[in-house]
Amino acid sequence: MTIDSQNEGWRSWHDSSEPVRLGVSSCLLGELVRFDGGHKRDRFITDVLGPWVEWVPVCPEVELGMPTPRPTIHIEEDDRGEQLVSPSTGENFTDEMNVYSKRRVSELDAQGLDGYVLKKNSPSCGLARISVYRNGKRAHRRGRGLFAESLVVNSPLLPIEEEGRLNDPMLRESFIEQILCRNRWRLAVKRGLTRKRLIEFHTAHKLILHSHNESASRRLGRLVGEISQTPDKVLFARYELDFHMCLRTKMTRKRHTNVLHHAMGHLKNVLDSNAKHDLLTTIEDYRRGLLPLIVPLTLLKFSVNRHAVAYLRGQLYFDPHPKELMLRNHC
Ligand code: SF4
Repeated sequence: MTIDSQNEGWRSWHDSSEPVRLGVSSCLLGELVRFDGGHKRDRFITDVLGPWVEWVPVCPEVELGMPTPRPTIHIEEDDRGEQLVSPSTGENFTDEMNVYSKRRVSELDAQGLDGYVLKKNSPSCGLARISVYRNGKRAHRRGRGLFAESLVVNSPLLPIEEEGRLNDPMLRESFIEQILCRNRWRLAVKRGLTRKRLIEFHTAHKLILHSHNESASRRLGRLVGEISQTPDKVLFARYELDFHMCLRTKMTRKRHTNVLHHAMGHLKNVLDSNAKHDLLTTIEDYRRGLLPLIVPLTLLKFSVNRHAVAYLRGQLYFDPHPKELMLRNHC
C-alpha cells in the first residue's frame, strides 16, 4: 500500500463542488481576442493545467467594448499620471478601464477565485515590466496593466502570476501549490471553521508552510496554539492573512532541503544506518542541484509509509498537487 492510498494527500482535501477556479487572460486559452485578431494560447495552461482547474476567462479590452482587431493601445505617462491611450486614434480609455476593472474584480471575488494567470506585456493584463511611454517614446518598463493593478489592489490575497513566469519550474510549483492551498482554505471556510478544524488545517500544512517561510510558519503555529481569548472571527481572519502571506515567500532548494532534514528527524528512531545514509546522500545531491526534488521526496515517502509515521503521513507537503503535473520533477 502506498502513502497515496492510505492518505490521499491533496485529493482528500478537495471537493468537486468547489473546484480550483482560476481567472485567466482569455487570449491565453486560445480565444481570438487580441488587438491583431489572434490569440496567445499557452499549452501548459490549456493542456497541462487545464484538466485540473475551472477557468474564468476575462479579456478586459473586449469586455470594455473594444473591437477585434483594434488599434494598439499603450500606457502613456503625462501630468495626469498613467493613461491608457491609443497612439493612432488618440482615444483615452483610462477612466473607463479603471471603472470596469474595479467592478469586474469585485464580481470575480464574489465568484470565488483561487488564483489568476495574466498575459505578460499587456497594458491591460500585464503584471510587471510593462512599457510606459512619455511624449510617444518609451520612458521605462516599470509599468503594470490597468486591469492587473485593480486585481492586485482589490484582491490582495489572490495568488497571481504571468504565464511567462510559469516557465520557471520553482515559480510554477509555488504558484500551483498556492492556488491549491487557497482552494483548501476556501473549502474549509465554506464547510464552517472551528478552532479544532483550524488546528487540523494548520497541522496538515505545516511542512508546506516551512518550505516557504519557516519563521512565518512558526508564528502561524503559535497563533493557532494560543487558543486565547481572541474572538474566532478575528483569529480566522488573522490566520487567513498570515497563511496566504507565508505562502508568498519563494521556495528555494535550501528551504526544501531544510524541510527534508526536518522530516527525516521524525524518522530517526525507525531508520537503520544504511537507510539514513541513502536518504542523507540523496538530500545532499538534491541540495547540490544534482537531483530533482521528487527523488528525495519519494525515498522519504517510502520510509514514512513503511514505518507508518502518523505525523508525516498527514503532511500535504508530500502530495500537495496532482502528480500528473510533475511539478517536482524539474525543481
Ligand atoms: S492580454 Fe488581456 S486584454 Fe489583451 S487580448 Fe489578452 S486578455 Fe485581452
